[in-house]
Amino acid sequence: PAAGTSILKVEGLVKRFGGLTAVNGVGFNLTAGHILGVIGPNGAGKSTLFNLLTGVLTPNEGVIELSGERMDRRPQAAFAKLGVARTFQHVMLRGDMSVLENVAVGAHLRGRRGAFSAILGLDREEEAAIFANARRQLERVGLGEYLHMPAGSLALGQQRILEIARALAADPVVLLLDEPAAGLRYHEKQKLDEVLRQLREEGMTILIVEHDMEFVMNLVDRLVVVDFGQKIAEGLPEEIQENSRVQQAYLGV
Ligand code: ADP
Ligand code: MG
Repeated sequence: PAAGTSILKVEGLVKRFGGLTAVNGVGFNLTAGHILGVIGPNGAGKSTLFNLLTGVLTPNEGVIELSGERMDRRPQAAFAKLGVARTFQHVMLRGDMSVLENVAVGAHLRGRRGAFSAILGLDREEEAAIFANARRQLERVGLGEYLHMPAGSLALGQQRILEIARALAADPVVLLLDEPAAGLRYHEKQKLDEVLRQLREEGMTILIVEHDMEFVMNLVDRLVVVDFGQKIAEGLPEEIQENSRVQQAYLGV
């Protein structure tokens, strides 16, 4: 899609759990080729929002449009089919399988859970194509030298990048990352930052839900800040940094 095209448009999104409103009227727009960060303190509703945007949860109210298509009543598989690829806050890899196999299997399953047996039964040509693509995606994110190592032997930072490669293997329209910087060491965050910048340069559209304010500040084009389920600010990172409401809510100052 051309730069500036709306990829993900969200309006008045509401999600209630019993008496608690976890997401309360959130809206924003993510345009092609940009990285949008959604930040907020613990309990702000970030994971719930993420689950709504990937079809894991269905909103009580509001609109989600993906490339102009109405998605808010659609099941998870429909989101994947339309090009939403995601990573998980808690790494979801088969540690005993190789790096390459993790990407190949993940790509084939398009985000669904399943076993390696899912790619058995493909003909050799299909299987070869899936593995060739997996290799390309791993090289793209700088993991080309680890293809045959067990995924579980990689450092956490590399595992997160591996998950990104797996998401990329599905050739997504938009990449959604759930707290990608959580638990990473400084140099791992730098590496992740590099990978995401490179993907943006290639034209990828990315949404990052993140607790780590410092990580997103230097990376994203635009930030949405949520607190108690509501959007309390939106703007350029430098605007958000200066915003006293954000400082109050987020930093407790
Ligand atoms: P964050 O990811 O920003 O920490 P969450 O989206 O996980 O916030 O949670 C927002 C609020 O919704 C919290 O008060 C949390 O306890 C509540 N919540 C989240 N998921 C559920 C659920 N499945 N059932 C009930 N309450 C939930
Ligand atoms: Mg969360």
